[in-house]
Amino acid sequence: MRQLRFANPELQARFLEGLAALPFAVQRSADGSVICSEEEWDEVNTVAHRVRDGCFKWYFSLCHRPADVEELGEHLRSNGLRHEIEYHEDGLVIFLLPQADRDKHIPSSDFPPPTPDTCSFCGSSYAERQFFYTKDIAAICDECIREFHAGIESSELGSRKD
Ligand SMILES: [Zn+2]
Repeated sequence: MRQLRFANPELQARFLEGLAALPFAVQRSADGSVICSEEEWDEVNTVAHRVRDGCFKWYFSLCHRPADVEELGEHLRSNGLRHEIEYHEDGLVIFLLPQADRDKHIPSSDFPPPTPDTCSFCGSSYAERQFFYTKDIAAICDECIREFHAGIESSELGSRKD
């Protein structure tokens, strides 16, 4: 299951408004997070993108560890840098950041690159991708996710076990 909640109530309200127009109903958790299946995520995320696009020209910074969330959050707050926060599944926190401020966001020594820092499938660097997921020793970029998704949709079998 995928999960998303905007920390900013205004953005969350816009998000929910957009979701109401979808042909399916999403679930909500106790804290107000929107929960949906992998299949529904594309459409849910499209609505989320509209909310994000309404903020500023953005990019994501992903934090998997609470310590990283704390550190980046503190850096942004203490420097008065504009940002929005999204809570996702499995404790993932995403900072939505203006591209225009990019060079102010990362005190490089404080924020080491993800491990691994290149996509396991196409080899591109996390730095050139908007989306970059890591899990254990593997990583995948947004472009590969899109490609795989398209592949699954065009396949009669849906999944392969080899
Ligand atoms: Zn890739």
